[in-house]
Amino acid sequence: MNEQEIKEMLDRIAALESKNAALENKFIALEKQVDTINKFVSAITESQSIETTMNEIESVAKQLTDCDKATFYCYDNAGDKFFSHGDYRNWQDTQSADELKKVFVGQKIQNKQKEAVIPLVTSKGKSVGVIVAEKEKGFKKSDFEGFKKGSQMMNTVELALKKEFEHQGRITDELTNLKNRQGLNEYLKNTLCGNLNDGQPANIVMCDIDHFKAVNDTYGHEAGDTILKGVAAVLNDGTRDGADCAFRMGGEEMVLILNCAPEKAVDIAERLRVQIENTVHTVMQGDTPTEVKVTVSMGVCDIRPNINIEITPDNIREVFDGELCAADQAAYRAKNNGRNQVVSYDERVNKAYLTYKAAEILCGGNSETIPKIKDSIVTCLESKNYEMFYSAIDALQDYAAKNPQVSKAADILISKICSAYGYDTPEAEHTEPTFDKAERTAESKSEVKYYNKDEYGKIENKFFLNVTAAAAYKIAQKAQAEGIQFSVKYNGDKSVVTLDGERDKPFIDSVKKEFAPPKPEQPAFTVEDDFPAYDVPTEENTVDDIPPYIPPNVSAEQKQQPERKKATFYNREEYKDIQNKTFIGTDAKTAYDISKFAEKSGVQFSAKFDGKNSAVTVDGVKSKGFIETVRSISAWSDKVQIKAAKSKEQLTPSKNTNRGR
Ligand code: GH3
Ligand code: MG
Ligand code: MG
Repeated sequence: MNEQEIKEMLDRIAALESKNAALENKFIALEKQVDTINKFVSAITESQSIETTMNEIESVAKQLTDCDKATFYCYDNAGDKFFSHGDYRNWQDTQSADELKKVFVGQKIQNKQKEAVIPLVTSKGKSVGVIVAEKEKGFKKSDFEGFKKGSQMMNTVELALKKEFEHQGRITDELTNLKNRQGLNEYLKNTLCGNLNDGQPANIVMCDIDHFKAVNDTYGHEAGDTILKGVAAVLNDGTRDGADCAFRMGGEEMVLILNCAPEKAVDIAERLRVQIENTVHTVMQGDTPTEVKVTVSMGVCDIRPNINIEITPDNIREVFDGELCAADQAAYRAKNNGRNQVVSYDERVNKAYLTYKAAEILCGGNSETIPKIKDSIVTCLESKNYEMFYSAIDALQDYAAKNPQVSKAADILISKICSAYGYDTPEAEHTEPTFDKAERTAESKSEVKYYNKDEYGKIENKFFLNVTAAAAYKIAQKAQAEGIQFSVKYNGDKSVVTLDGERDKPFIDSVKKEFAPPKPEQPAFTVEDDFPAYDVPTEENTVDDIPPYIPPNVSAEQKQQPERKKATFYNREEYKDIQNKTFIGTDAKTAYDISKFAEKSGVQFSAKFDGKNSAVTVDGVKSKGFIETVRSISAWSDKVQIKAAKSKEQLTPSKNTNRGR
């Protein structure tokens, strides 16, 4: 061999060696891939729930592509929709669903560098879902090697999903989509047992539709089924997060398991009760759609197992049944008390709930301060000391007087608290004081007295004059002499006279000048702002049944003005910026009141004043709470019709309770 030949030979050996090393690397990578897939196969075979199965799919996809985040979107044939783990009940918006569908149908990986959409296709060429993978460094072609059509992984995914859907089908009640008794059994063994042993609180809520037999008798069994489904949907939606769950026990009896403190469980149940009460079900009466509402009675019981017994999958059913029986008895009490209410089996929990709500009102939604205020309220209410008890009640009334949006809720709460603790409601106690007595309280800030307290609730357009007790006394005397409706709270410098802000505006103006320092002018609703013609009849709208409404800040000449034929607007320029337009249709006076309320509450709105056809427009999504409050205020509820504009957003389904079967 000459030198040249030796060199060539050495080069060839070197080339072979490096090829060998490359093959070895590839082999190691493949071995790792096989290992990952083997682990995946065994994990997914053992999986007990669709959540775990989807979780495993995401985890294997993440390992195989070496990406930062992978989301698996499963395809639901029945609904022609995708759902993902975690928020599997929230469908994708139309745009991303279209994108997923394209990859799902086309069966080609879409690599957009930092994001890739990968179809999962079985050996029979069937797509079962797609994975959306995200990788900051960007994807290489080799990252997708584990996702070849018909690979073992794809077939495992298909089998696992099939098994899960069949399982879901077995544990789901067909009519209501709630879990059935078998589902409850599994939930008790797989979830609740562990939660209880970990010391987590759990509560049972028994839910029974009121007079459901009569509903069936009136509207027919099919209508009954529709209503049952509607009620179940509210319960299902209300228990989606975490470990909470809703079950149909049979008939029209449904059970919730809520993992939270007992008084919080009553609070959640109460919220659901109100939601059910407000849900309109459309049922067919022959060819005519008819709107029906139903109510439910709920009994709550917290699960407090005997601490001496360890809870096991074998005895959990027994423990649960004992507590279910108590929840049932509480529901029975709710029925006997007049239905459409929530009752806890444990009186202490009923009281704790009331104090919790009182604290919530007093904190004005500032949840950070709730525990502290709650403690002091509990101390006052539980003290068995008359003075202390009423100081908590007074605080509540005081807050309610300054915040009309909670005054109705506070009134109801106060009477419930008083009855739960065996005290008289304050009206009976506080209407006694005479003017003389009240005047004395001018000096003493610690003592709160009322005069004409029961008038308070009757005053329609509440207007609060914040004055000293001495001034309040004089105003009250004057009002009484002139036959003006009023109510007074004497509380030193923080005394309040409540009057009808619209009907008795002239009286208010006269006493304001005399007793109260002028406040800086409110920016809202001034005439300069083009504030509205109210119920001045228009051509299309000449009606006698609406009393003329004179806004408080319209000048005397304006009041004299003859008819204004055209509709007027307030906050008109806001209209186009309001996203999910929802119209609160009503008469001009109510529209005016609601506008004021919206402005006070900082809610974006626009109002059109046009006699009977007036409307306030708000964002139906952002201001959902506001709309609910408007609905709940009895002075308005009969006068408003709330309608959402048909918008693009509305056409997109945002929720679905079908779990992809
Ligand atoms: P209340 O609970 O307020 O005391 O009165 P109720 O009329 O609801 O009485 P109860 O709960 O005892 O009656 C249950 C009725 O519910 C009997 C039956 O007519 C009806 N029901 C039970 N299951 C179904 C169902 O699956 N579909 C329909 N449509 N009705 C059902
Ligand atoms: Mg029943
Ligand atoms: Mg019933």
